[in-house]
Amino acid sequence: MSDSLLITGASQLLTLRGRGARRGDALSQLGIVPDGAVLVSDGRIAAVGPTNMVEKLAAARKAEKVEVAGRVVLPGFVDSHTHLVHAASRAEEYELKIQGASYEEIAKKGGGILNSVKLLRAATSQQLKRRARAALETFAAYGTTTIEAKSGYGLDVASELKVLSLHKELSAEQPIEIASTFLGAHVVPLEFRGKANGPKEYVKLLTDWLIPEVASNGLAEFCDVFCDRGAFTRGQSKEVLTAGLKHKLIPRLHAEQLSRTGGTQLAVELEAASCDHLEQINRTDIRALAKSDTVATLLPGCDFHLGLKQYAPARKLIEAGAIVALATDYNPGTSPTMSMPMILSLACTQLRMTPAEAITAATINAAYSLGRHNRIGSLEVGKQADLAVFEVEDYREIPYYFGVNTCWLTLKSGSVIYAAA
Ligand SMILES: [Zn+2]
Repeated sequence: MSDSLLITGASQLLTLRGRGARRGDALSQLGIVPDGAVLVSDGRIAAVGPTNMVEKLAAARKAEKVEVAGRVVLPGFVDSHTHLVHAASRAEEYELKIQGASYEEIAKKGGGILNSVKLLRAATSQQLKRRARAALETFAAYGTTTIEAKSGYGLDVASELKVLSLHKELSAEQPIEIASTFLGAHVVPLEFRGKANGPKEYVKLLTDWLIPEVASNGLAEFCDVFCDRGAFTRGQSKEVLTAGLKHKLIPRLHAEQLSRTGGTQLAVELEAASCDHLEQINRTDIRALAKSDTVATLLPGCDFHLGLKQYAPARKLIEAGAIVALATDYNPGTSPTMSMPMILSLACTQLRMTPAEAITAATINAAYSLGRHNRIGSLEVGKQADLAVFEVEDYREIPYYFGVNTCWLTLKSGSVIYAAA
C-alpha cells in the first residue's frame, strides 16, 4: 500500500487556514476551497488546494486515490472536554431528573458524581477500558480525531492513578489521540465529608501527594478543578491549580456552571488553557476572558441533557473577542454524547452561533486550548492529516441535520479510522 493518499473532489474543503486561535469575525473564516483536494504523505498534509492543481503534482500521481465526490472535507474535530473513563451510564438519574429532581438534589442523595465514583472504584481496569474503547470508536464515527480526557471519578490515590494510566494505555493502543487531564478536584469524596476538616484534608491529599505523583509519572498534561457550588471554592481551586503549576500541569477549570464563584477570574489570573461551562458568567468575566488567551469552552450538551434553559452567552463572548471553543463534555451524568455534530447543532440553535463559528470552535480553537494548534485543527501543509469527510454538499448541513450522523470517513494521521458502511 502506498504511504501517500490523494483525496479529491470535495464540494467544499474547509481548511481553517491561518493563525492559531480565532476571535470575533475570524471565527467565521473557514478558508473554503471549492472542488478541493488534499495530498497526504507519511501521515502529514503535503498539499491542499483545488483538485485540478493538487492532482497534477508529481507526488499525487503515485498516491492511492480517494474520490469524495462532492462531499465536505474538514479538519477532524478536537473534543477538548470529556470524562472518557467511567464505569456505567446514569440512566436512572436521567429519569429522576425528567420527573423533576434537580442535578444538585440527586447529588445530595449520593447520586451524581459520587454515584460514578462508587461504580468506578468497583470496576476493573479491563471493564473500564472496554467501555472507553467503545466510546472512542463512536467518537471516530462522528468525525472526532483528538480528545481531552479527565480523571475525577476515582477520587482516591489508586483509582485516580488507574484512570490516568488508562488514558496512557488507550493512547498507545488505538488511533484517537488523548490529552490527559488530572481532575482529582472534581468533588470531595464521601470519606472526607461529614468532618470539619474533611475538604481541607482532601485538598492537601491532592496538592501534597497526588499531583506530584501524577506529574512525576507523566500521567497528565493538565490539572482541572470543578470550581462551583457543591464542589470546590475559588480558594481551594487556586490551591490545587497552583500546586499543579508547580509540577508543570497546565490549569483548566470547570467554572460558573451552577453558580458564579469567580472561577473565570481565577482562570484568567492563572493563565489557564481553558475555562469551561460559563453558563453563569457576567460582563466582567466576559471582558476578562476576551482580554486573555484562556479559551472559553462551551458545553451546550450539558444544558440540553439537563433540560436547562440558561446556556452560556456565546454571542457576547464572541462579540467581546474571547477565544470560543465547543466540546461534548462526554460524561455519564450530564452529557452522555460523543457526537460533535450534535454539539454543533446545539451551538447553532441554542447558543446562536453560526455553523461556521461552531466548526471553528470545534476544530482550531479547541486544538489551541489543548496546546496542539501547530499540529492539528486545520488542513495546512505540514500538519497531521486528521480529517473528516461528511456526506453533505454544504458544511452548514453538518449541524442542520441534528441527531443524524452524516460522517462518511474519518482519517487520523492519514489512516482511515472510520468509514460509513
Ligand atoms: Zn466536565
